[in-house]
Amino acid sequence: MPEVEQRALDTCSQQGASYADVRVVRREDESISVKSGRVEAVSLGESEGLGVRVLVDGAWGFASSSVLNTREADRVASEAVRIARASGTALRQPADLDDRAPARGHFATPVEEDPFALSLETKIGDLLAADERMRAVKGIAFTESLFHAQRERKSFAATDGSQTEQEITHVGAAIEVNAVEGDELQRRTYPDAGGGYQAAGYEYIRSLDLAGHAEALAEESVKLLRAPQCPSGRFTIILDPSQLYLQIHESCGHPTELDRVFGTEASYAGTSFLTTDRLDDGFMYGSELVDIVADATAPGGLGTFGWDDEGVEAQQVPLVKEGRFVGYLSSRETAPRIGRKSGGAMRADGWNRIPLIRMTNINLLPKPGKSLEEIVEDTDDGLYLASNRSWSIDDRRLNFQFATEVAYEIKGGKRGQLYKNPTYTGITYEFWRSCDAVGDERSYRMLGTPNCGKGEPGQLMHVGHAVSGARFRDVQVGVGKW
Ligand SMILES: [Zn+2]
Repeated sequence: MPEVEQRALDTCSQQGASYADVRVVRREDESISVKSGRVEAVSLGESEGLGVRVLVDGAWGFASSSVLNTREADRVASEAVRIARASGTALRQPADLDDRAPARGHFATPVEEDPFALSLETKIGDLLAADERMRAVKGIAFTESLFHAQRERKSFAATDGSQTEQEITHVGAAIEVNAVEGDELQRRTYPDAGGGYQAAGYEYIRSLDLAGHAEALAEESVKLLRAPQCPSGRFTIILDPSQLYLQIHESCGHPTELDRVFGTEASYAGTSFLTTDRLDDGFMYGSELVDIVADATAPGGLGTFGWDDEGVEAQQVPLVKEGRFVGYLSSRETAPRIGRKSGGAMRADGWNRIPLIRMTNINLLPKPGKSLEEIVEDTDDGLYLASNRSWSIDDRRLNFQFATEVAYEIKGGKRGQLYKNPTYTGITYEFWRSCDAVGDERSYRMLGTPNCGKGEPGQLMHVGHAVSGARFRDVQVGVGKW
C-alpha cells in the first residue's frame, strides 16, 4: 500500500476510528467545443488529492487535501476523526456497516485508442467536419459540437485490509443543430440527446460517425419548422432509446436510491414513492415485460467499475423483475437497514467529496422477439418519440412530463408525418404498467449522462443506461411551448 494511504489509515485507527477508508484520486479531463464553425473552447484539467472517511462511535467524518505526503495524510486523518466526533453529538442512528470480505485487485476500462494520446487536431478536426456539414444545410441558424474525455486513476484502501487500483476512462461527443424562424427554434441533436457517452477510448467516438449523421440531422431541424404541431390526446407511443434512457433515469434510477427513500437526501433531491413497504409488498412497478437492473459490470457503461467507493465489488442488482419492484441502489450502511448487503452503488465525484448512493448503469433489459423496427411495424396507430428535449418530475418521482425533439406518426406499421414540439405526461407506475413491448438485442445500446446531480455540496456523476426502445399504450400526449 502507498505510504500516504497507510499513514492516513494508521492515524485514524490510533485516534479511535472503528473503520476508515482512504481514496487517492487523480483525474484528467479534456473538453472541446466547436460553435458555428469556430473552436469555442479547449480545456484541459487535472486534479489530484486524497479523501479520508472515518467512522467513530457510529458517526461519519470526512476530510480531504490536494497535498500528497505523510504529514498531510496525518493532518487530514485527524481532521476526519475530529469531524466524526463532533457529528457524533447530533447522531440520530449510529452507522453500522454490512460484513464483507476485503476488496483486492485491479480494474481498468478496456481502451483501444487512448483519447488523451490522440492529437488535439484530430479531435477538433472530427468536430469541425461534422459542424461544416450541418452548416451547409440551408436554413441553419447555429450549431454546436462537443467532445469530452475523462480519466480517473483511483487507489482505495481501508482498515479492513481492502486495497484496490482502478483506471477508468470515459469519452463522449454530441452534435447539435438549430434552425430558427421568427421566434421559433427547432433543435436536433445526435447521438441520443446528449447520451453519446461510454466507458471506452476514442474508438467509440469514431463509431458514432458524427459527420455522417450531420446533414440529415440539419435537414430535419429545418423540416421541423414547417411541420405541424404534435396532436394532443391519448396515444400509443414508442420511445426511441434517445428518450427512454432519460425516462429510466428519472423515474426508476432516482427513486430507487435508498438514501433518498430514508429521507437523508430529501432537502436537495427529494424523496421517493418507492418506500420500503412497497418492497415488502412486491409492488407492481411496471408490466411483466419490465426488467430493470443496476449493472455496474455492463460493458461500456459510465457506471461500470471494479469496486465502488467503499470497496464493494461491482454487481448486477435487480431493481424491477418482471414488473415487480425488488431492489434498491444501496450502500454498506443503508442496505443492512432493509436486511440486505450493499449493492455497491457508493460513488464520489472526485477526491474531495464523500461517496453517496448513485446510479451505476440502470438498464432496461431487452426482450427476445421483436426488434424496435418490428415493434413499429406491429403498431397500427401511434407516435414514435425521439431525442429528449426537456423533463420535469415531482419530488417523489411520480408525476412526470417529458418533451422530445421530434415525433413521427405511425400509421399501419409505418413511420410517416413529422410532428414538432411533442410532450407526454404520466404517473411513473401507471406508465410502466402500460408497457406492452420492449425491443430485443438488435436495438439495445449503452448510453450515458455525465451530469447527474446530487448532494450538498453538489456532485456530478457519470451514469449509464442501456436500453432498446419500448412501446407504451394509452399515454397522454400534448404540445410543448418553446
Ligand atoms: Zn440524475
